[in-house]
Amino acid sequence: MARIADLLAVGPTFSFEFFPPRTEEAERALEQALAELEPLRPSFVSVTYGAGGSTRERTHDIVARINRDTSMTAMAHLTCAGHTRAELTEIITGYRAEGLENILALAGDPPSTTTGEQPPPADFRYATELVELVRSLGHFCVGVAAHPELHPRSAGDRAADRDRLAAKLAAADFAITQFFFTTEPYLRMVEELADRDVTAPVIPGVMPVTNVSQVERFAQLSGSAFPAELAERLHAVADRPDDVRRIGVEVATKLCQDLLDAGVPGLHFYTLNRSTATREIYANLGLGADGAGLSARNHA
Ligand SMILES: Cc1cc2nc3c(=O)[nH]c(=O)nc-3n(C[C@H](O)[C@H](O)[C@H](O)COP(=O)(O)OP(=O)(O)OC[C@H]3O[C@@H](n4cnc5c(N)ncnc54)[C@H](O)[C@@H]3O)c2cc1C
Repeated sequence: MARIADLLAVGPTFSFEFFPPRTEEAERALEQALAELEPLRPSFVSVTYGAGGSTRERTHDIVARINRDTSMTAMAHLTCAGHTRAELTEIITGYRAEGLENILALAGDPPSTTTGEQPPPADFRYATELVELVRSLGHFCVGVAAHPELHPRSAGDRAADRDRLAAKLAAADFAITQFFFTTEPYLRMVEELADRDVTAPVIPGVMPVTNVSQVERFAQLSGSAFPAELAERLHAVADRPDDVRRIGVEVATKLCQDLLDAGVPGLHFYTLNRSTATREIYANLGLGADGAGLSARNHA
């Protein structure tokens, strides 16, 4: 295991994100993706957390298994939505006892209340409060989320969104971004953070499109602009999954290349528990199994 801040210091890093599966079939898909991506020797991998604790055990078990049984370093995501301070403390101290070093501290989205049920009580509202708690409970390396195209709840108040992001990142070690499709929003956000004297590494999150309607839904939820030209190209082949993936990989490869040329501190791939698209992008970028291509490129 390694601290992600240390990896970033000698970076660039490359990393993969997974989510806890719900079914046995989905579990097999995750196992296959892990086995196929491990040979790429990622700097680290991360496992998402269901806000409100819906994946509390599963996130923990997958993170523990990756750290125990594979050569990869796993980071646990944790959200404060739907948790009391005591519950969060129990989860974090449990991780500390097991030697976990890296936590991505998130607000999470409050559980939907369309059924009329009361959401579970939560003591914290914002990720910064969780960052503070994690820091107070151990020598963790702490990451946070960043939204290049503004957080959906920031209601268009760009300056306030950036001020809060800067304050959050100043208290953390690094950030990983929501996905986006052109470099401009990412580069602008990094500049806006630098204007606020915050230069901690912000790793761009990359989502290769493998399913058009799924990515459109994700983009809507996360506030990421889905370019009309890309949507048009993808809709034209929407019933041919191989063609969708081919275009998704081509577009993501170009984005990664542009980001690397701009000197990003790393690349974080949203794998959706599948390995093919990520492996294809990786090969297109000419990266060796040890990430040598990436390091050589950015240190040139
Ligand atoms: C890389 C990445 C990984 C993610 N992983 C998960 C996951 O595993 N599980 C999951 O459920 N979700 C995950 N999310 C989604 C995330 O939980 C949601 O985007 C959530 O809505 C916001 O989380 P945050 O940590 O960015 O929140 P915050 O940083 O708390 O910000 C949320 C909103 O509150 C505002 N705000 C912050 N502080 C204040 C303040 N003091 N006063 C007023 N307003 C304030 C911010 O400007 C923003 O609009 C992830 C997102 C990213 C980018």
